[in-house]
Amino acid sequence: MERRNAWLTYTEAQEKEMEEVVKAYRNFLDLGKTERECVTQIIKEAEAAGYEALETRLAKGGALKAGDKVYTVDMKKIVALFHIGQEDIANGMNILGAHIDSPRLDIKQNPLYEDADLAFLDTHYYGGVKKYQWVSIPLAMHGVVVRKDGSVVDVNIGEAEDDPVLYITDLLIHLAGKQLQKKAADVIDGESMDILIGSRPLKDLPDEKKKEAVKENVLKILNEKYGIEEEDFLSAELEIVPAGKARECGLDRSMIVGYGQDDRVCAYTSLLAILEMDAPKRTSCCLLVDKEEIGSVGATGMQSRFFENSVAELLEGMGKYTELTLRRALRNSSMLSSDVSAGFDPAYADAFEKKNSAFLGRGIVLNKFTGARGKSGSNDANAEYVAKVRAIFDKYEVAFQTAELGKVDIGGGGTIAYIAALYGMEVIDSGVAVLSMHAPWEVTSKADVYEAKKAYKAFLLDA
Ligand code: MN
Ligand code: MN
Repeated sequence: MERRNAWLTYTEAQEKEMEEVVKAYRNFLDLGKTERECVTQIIKEAEAAGYEALETRLAKGGALKAGDKVYTVDMKKIVALFHIGQEDIANGMNILGAHIDSPRLDIKQNPLYEDADLAFLDTHYYGGVKKYQWVSIPLAMHGVVVRKDGSVVDVNIGEAEDDPVLYITDLLIHLAGKQLQKKAADVIDGESMDILIGSRPLKDLPDEKKKEAVKENVLKILNEKYGIEEEDFLSAELEIVPAGKARECGLDRSMIVGYGQDDRVCAYTSLLAILEMDAPKRTSCCLLVDKEEIGSVGATGMQSRFFENSVAELLEGMGKYTELTLRRALRNSSMLSSDVSAGFDPAYADAFEKKNSAFLGRGIVLNKFTGARGKSGSNDANAEYVAKVRAIFDKYEVAFQTAELGKVDIGGGGTIAYIAALYGMEVIDSGVAVLSMHAPWEVTSKADVYEAKKAYKAFLLDA
């Protein structure tokens, strides 16, 4: 049951369309390196496509009706878009879900110190990272600092051509004999992943400050550039991510190398699909969540009531809210829970079972189940639903493949699918195959990005 490589099927027009999708996607990766930046960009593109904030729409008065396009956001990190369909919403929605947070290093609340005439920022990593991948590469800092008066300062250092970048040091090979004997998990100590941020002491300081002249200079620069003080780190969310733009990869330019493709590749293609919808039959929804990489916890994670509350507000706006209608709308929905899949890598063939692996270029991946050790923690999609989804993909000539995440008992992973399934809706995991998942730079196939967008559109049309 081998699946065909999608590249072999494309007409010239399709290749052109694929390049357009990928170009927009690369732009999204460059602008959205944090969940907040992603939400900002999503709202911008949604508004350009005629979407309006639900709250703004409600304030105008008059019931929401078929054809209306609204979005709602919480804490600038989680967003749901709805395009109201002709059919009674109690019969359910077609939902595309994905996450917009990615593994990274977060700056601690009291981060800045000086040692040996060098200034550093202390970090705590976020999500699953191989720590040794994050040292000795150019890094950027993205995020916000919120002053005591509530004013928000956006920080972005390391992306513009002439911006400085940040860096985490590694031990030179000449002295690394002992370090190299350590297990890979221990080669880099999480506590010593500190960001090198300065080495130039400030001149003419009073005696009591001379000891930390490099740190003082960093603080002076931060104050001049952003108007912030050391105490403002207490209420900051600063994320350290790889510096630089997403690039084409391979002599044949067939792939994309970029940071945060888990899971922005699914998030952005889902967004493109819903923005293209024209008078949907069933209500279309696109739900893009935060905190997936740390267990979908918190007010902006999938485990929160954000989605349920948003649908309740939507129903109220339609003049249809009752507790039962809300439950029915959720229960009768169909969802593609989209997250990246492990692409088969010949260099690490041992970790995969080839018949049930995802291959780059063979289209969107359906994972009937995820989880680990006996499918634990998985939403195991219903066979009837899998049949329905594959029939839709076939009808719209979407290239797709099925896979599980690696060999039995070798590892595993979870997604947001099981949480949405709590409402009783039909959910299946789907997504794009990635090489080097969770590495600072991840690789995807342009064809798979294109097929994902096609798949999401087909699902919104026909599920
Ligand atoms: Mn993911
Ligand atoms: Mn992940």
